[in-house]
Amino acid sequence: MDAIISVSNLVKKYGEFEAVKGISFEVVEGEIFGLLGPNGAGKSTTLEIIETLRDKTGGDVIVDGINLDESPGDIKKIIGVQLQASGYYPGLNLLELIELFAGLYNQPVNGRELLSLVNLQDKAKAKFKELSGGQKQRFSIATTLINKPKIIFLDEPTTGLDPQARRNLWDLIKDIRDKGTTVIITTHYMDEAEVLCDRVAIIDSGQIVAIDSPVKLIDDLVAAGFERKKEVKKASLEDVFIQLTGKEFRDE
Ligand code: ADP
Ligand code: MG
Repeated sequence: MDAIISVSNLVKKYGEFEAVKGISFEVVEGEIFGLLGPNGAGKSTTLEIIETLRDKTGGDVIVDGINLDESPGDIKKIIGVQLQASGYYPGLNLLELIELFAGLYNQPVNGRELLSLVNLQDKAKAKFKELSGGQKQRFSIATTLINKPKIIFLDEPTTGLDPQARRNLWDLIKDIRDKGTTVIITTHYMDEAEVLCDRVAIIDSGQIVAIDSPVKLIDDLVAAGFERKKEVKKASLEDVFIQLTGKEFRDE
């Protein structure tokens, strides 16, 4: 498998403070790659550097063969980034927003088709502020797809969502991967990373402390003698919640 993103010795300093301390990793084409780590670990900084939105202090970034130092504009063309909600002009409905963004990207787009892809076809005429949390996230993911990117970046797309909406987004993100788009995602939910990510990198204080598939990382920990303190129950409280309230996604 080929690397579509290759980061070597990436360093980011904010003044004297070194937020990213020389990290190296590769993202394989067609995978869902998770960046995990506590708040302040440097996840968003790393993503925004690759997205060409933030300057780096040192190191190299190659995206689909394009060197960030040489042609950031060419990288922009092949990636999809979630826009800040502040860019969603309050007077426009979802369809109009997609058309506006498509114009900015200079890309023809079938707005209704894109909204169907994220299951928002019934909300074409709604304003962003009228959407539920899960719908807002789905719309925001739709906007990353407007320029038909090879790679999309999702920074904590499921934070604050209910269990059903989270599962609904997992299916959507897997769908996007299955259609051939590489996905880089950050999340604080380890259950989510376990089911969603093909591989993860765990970052702590600006350094990568582990990188592998979730299964391999878990097996390594067990092989090193780790045992859970309590006997593990066969179900979790989340399982109880989903059993009682149904997997069925509520369109709130
Ligand atoms: P994460 O996304 O993993 O929570 P960030 O990349 O946002 O982490 O931040 C990494 C570190 O860099 C944090 O200590 C944060 O406070 C600091 N930081 C982020 N952005 C800035 C900035 N614009 N100026 C100064 N420090 C920043
Ligand atoms: Mg962050």
